[in-house]
Order: sequence, then structure tokens, then C-alpha cells
Amino acid sequence: MEPDIQHGAATTTAIYPGSFDPVTYGHLDIIERAVQHFDRLVVAVFDRPNRRLRFSGAQRLALMREATAHLTRVDVQQYHTLTVDYARAIGARVIVRGLRSPTDFAAEQPIAQHNRVMAPDIETFFLIASPHHAACSASIVREIAALGGDVAALVPPHVAAALRSAEYEP
Ligand code: ADP
Repeated sequence: MEPDIQHGAATTTAIYPGSFDPVTYGHLDIIERAVQHFDRLVVAVFDRPNRRLRFSGAQRLALMREATAHLTRVDVQQYHTLTVDYARAIGARVIVRGLRSPTDFAAEQPIAQHNRVMAPDIETFFLIASPHHAACSASIVREIAALGGDVAALVPPHVAAALRSAEYEP
């Protein structure tokens, strides 16, 4: 069925996938901006990234849920399949990603192109990072926190607390 553009009647769902290890203010900036353009934004926490993680899937999910609790049209879910398969399964036609730099672009371009081949019905929308958040990455946050530095400007307080705790339990 064609979406009812004139009256805006079609319900649009987008997904924002990532490993979010852990969620940062940079991720939250993308979420808060993206959700304004969709009826529903599913933040999809990838459960099986092929690299070492600071937090488990359950922990990353819980940290993201708490960080987005004030956003009524945002759902946080875990997934472990191809992103396009998960998008289709939940009826999302848009994948949202954030771009901080040309390095992000270089990494994101082939992913978006492969996704396009696998799922021509799903589009990837890129949001440019806000200048204030462009230097914020989960890996920098992990590194600063591991060395005892202050990450209060980069992550919400409950995430900073989890980073301080050796055995964070959601
Ligand atoms: P990945 O999916 O590669 O594991 P992350 O989970 O860290 O990456 O991030 C998910 C998405 O958020 C990616 O599109 C990433 O480029 C974007 N992102 C990460 N940090 C920021 C930031 N500070 N500002 C804008 N976008 C960001």
C-alpha cells in the first residue's frame, strides 16, 4: 500500500543499530534528533559484535533503556541477526547511523551499500554528529574510564557509575 503522504497517515519505524558499549551522549544526540522524524525509533543493540566488549548484551541493553527512558517513541531491543533482516522483522524501512568524520563515512559506506543490495526496500539515513559530540566515542569513554578519568561530560551518570563498577549488574 502506498503511504498516505498528504495526510501523514503511514506509520514509520526506523532502527538505530549499534553495539553501544556503552551508550554515550553522542549516541543520545543521534537518537533524540532521529526520533523527531519517525513515529517509532527502535534502538537495536547488537548482541554479537565480533570484538571484545566492556559490557554484556544485557548490560548494554539496560544502560540504553535507562538512558532513553524519557523518550516515549523510542524502544530498545537486542538483536543478533543481519541488521537488514532485523529491520524487516520489525517493519522498519530506515536504518539510522551517525557520522562523526570521514573515517566513519569510509566505514559506513560499504555497509550501507551491501545493505542496499541485500535489502533494496530499506534505506540508510545518515545524521552528521553535532559538533559538540563529534569527538565522543564509546572506545574513548572506555579508555578514559579504565584509567580512572572523569567521563561525566561524555556519558549519563548511570553509565559513568557502571564504568566505575568492576562488576556492574543491570
Ligand atoms: P558500531 O555500530 O560500529 O559498534 P557504535 O555502537 O559505537 O558503533 O555506534 C553506533 C552508531 O552511532 C554508528 O553509526 C556511529 O557512527 C554512531 N556514533 C557513535 N558515536 C557518535 C557520536 N558521538 N556522534 C554521532 N554518532 C555517533
